[in-house]
Amino acid sequence: MTKITPQPGIMDIALYVAGSSHIDGVSNVVKLSSNENPFGPSPTAQEAVRRAVLDLHRYPPTDHAGLRNAIAEVYDLDAERIACGVGSDELLSLMSQAYAGPGDEVVHTEHGFALYRICALAAGATPIEVSEHERVTDVDAILAACTEKTRLVFIANPNNPTGTMIGLAEIERLADKLPPRVLLVLDGAYAEFVEGYDGGARLVETRENVVMTRTFSKIYGLGGLRIGWCYAPKPVIDVINRIRGPFNLSSAALAAAEAAVRDTAYVEKCRLENARWRAWLAEALAGHGVPSDTSMANFILARFSDESEAEACNQYLQKQGLIVRQVGSYNLPYALRITIGDEASCRRVAHAIGQFKAGER
Ligand SMILES: *Cc1c(COP(=O)(O)O)cnc(C)c1O
Repeated sequence: MTKITPQPGIMDIALYVAGSSHIDGVSNVVKLSSNENPFGPSPTAQEAVRRAVLDLHRYPPTDHAGLRNAIAEVYDLDAERIACGVGSDELLSLMSQAYAGPGDEVVHTEHGFALYRICALAAGATPIEVSEHERVTDVDAILAACTEKTRLVFIANPNNPTGTMIGLAEIERLADKLPPRVLLVLDGAYAEFVEGYDGGARLVETRENVVMTRTFSKIYGLGGLRIGWCYAPKPVIDVINRIRGPFNLSSAALAAAEAAVRDTAYVEKCRLENARWRAWLAEALAGHGVPSDTSMANFILARFSDESEAEACNQYLQKQGLIVRQVGSYNLPYALRITIGDEASCRRVAHAIGQFKAGER
């Protein structure tokens, strides 16, 4: 038996399963399993990457100042309270590492993003799962779950994979009532899809215990380059900057993200297209007897009568070359999460689900 063993908790981590991208023997597949932007990155971000190629022999800046300033300008934030990471995944993981360890508890919700549990275990802490109310974050349940061991609370708002969200007043109530040692992390991976929602940025500015994370992987269409950022009280930013890799973001990633965040017209176009086809798809599926909660993100969670119907529908969709996401690992075995693609993809998936339902009768 080897004596080389990892820290406690690490072998309790189940490997993260990413949305699949191919089906054996089927060509012309449509990938609707990872909440990617069907239109890709902004043309100006693409151009920035082409230009960055010429300087790839140079190390990137360590302070991310260009990108932080661009984000601060576009979102009207304080650049000193921004830190950038290799996807928001890295920031979630760094915060877990910094603020939780053996004996500490990290709270996440029943259908919360899979990474919260992984980050807690990787830090040696204990993940605590809190129930939701009809697939919506339940502030009172979270407060009731907090003990003197709790150090972090992770909430995605809107949440993945449910697509639901809670209002700022509820978030504020949570931030105010949490025990003093608890840091509330608001994961805003889908915040840009919600018109008029700041992801909790203003709460960050007025409190010591709130952090907001954001990503370039969803509406900005840059998942392949791995860029995220967080907005946090200065002491938290100081902690993150001490433990992150000094060159964590590549020069190509920084250049792409800066161009992408400045192309606000492109983001607005993507937001509107998403809202339009999300409403269309939800209605089309409801018409076929497949309900979903009102989604605020770029996917919908389609509900079936039970696990076996969801599984059968998933298989039927695969045969049609449509890849959606099974969410059994999120305690939602009766549902499928479907990313809002472009018009043609939405029509294809609605048609296929209609055929599947008709075939059952
Ligand atoms: C996609 C997603 C992220 C983003 O991860 P990146 O590492 O930035 O690509 C974070 N949180 C949630 C809830 C997500 O769905």
